[in-house]
Amino acid sequence: MEKLYEGKAKILYRTDDPEVLLTVFKDDATAFNAQKRGQIQGKGAINCAIASALLQGLETLGIPTHYLSQPQPTEMFVKAVKIVPVEVVVRNIAAGSLCKQTGLPLGQVLPFPLVEFYLKDDALGDPLLTRDRLLVLGIVNEAEIETLQTLALAINQHLIHFFNQCQITLVDFKLEFGYDAQGTLLLADEISPDTCRLWDQTQSDPTAKVLDKDRFRQDLGQVEAAYQTVQQRVLAQIQDWHGK
Ligand code: ADP
Ligand code: MG
Repeated sequence: MEKLYEGKAKILYRTDDPEVLLTVFKDDATAFNAQKRGQIQGKGAINCAIASALLQGLETLGIPTHYLSQPQPTEMFVKAVKIVPVEVVVRNIAAGSLCKQTGLPLGQVLPFPLVEFYLKDDALGDPLLTRDRLLVLGIVNEAEIETLQTLALAINQHLIHFFNQCQITLVDFKLEFGYDAQGTLLLADEISPDTCRLWDQTQSDPTAKVLDKDRFRQDLGQVEAAYQTVQQRVLAQIQDWHGK
């Protein structure tokens, strides 16, 4: 199959159907805009399983997604989309760059879910955008900003509810959206411990509770075990996910 694009975490292949792509999830891990590189054993299959489960779950709750099927442990068939070059981040609790840039203490519960837009441009370091910057760049119009915000907040409510059932706190996460051949806006890319901050509610120790890529970013160890924990809990709960 023809390779369309190789990213940091996945490879996209064309298929016989121009409206369908095959995504292959890699064990490769990067952080800090790819300045830190490594491998997380088994991550490809784990993230593919988690993302497949969550995207399917969201689809049944009325969120349009690119998910089609998972033919192999590391492979996902998806609807081909034209990616909106904006990373939509939703935060429920202060962590990461929000703490660095605002001084909010790590772990502070935010008064309402914060939706942020970052330019999807590795060369520029994925800068934080304002609403007017989005409009000036012409990436999206006002109506699309509203739609992205509304979708991101709805997805947040569904995921908070689901992860709570897994005894996991959804701290923050990143989403990507794109338009399919019919012009429908779909949730694309992945939702996984690479793209979410997830804290284990059964652990009180601030290091022990981290179940996401921060273990890799900050060299906390037990990275594979954390990803496996998320996979086990997500797959155990997914059948019972009716949302709300
Ligand atoms: P990156 O290094 O840009 O994070 P990844 O390895 O995570 O890349 O993923 C590969 C690329 O595939 C991403 O740039 C993402 O925007 C893109 N992508 C995800 N889903 C789709 C889709 N359904 N159609 C087209 N491109 C997609
Ligand atoms: Mg990515």
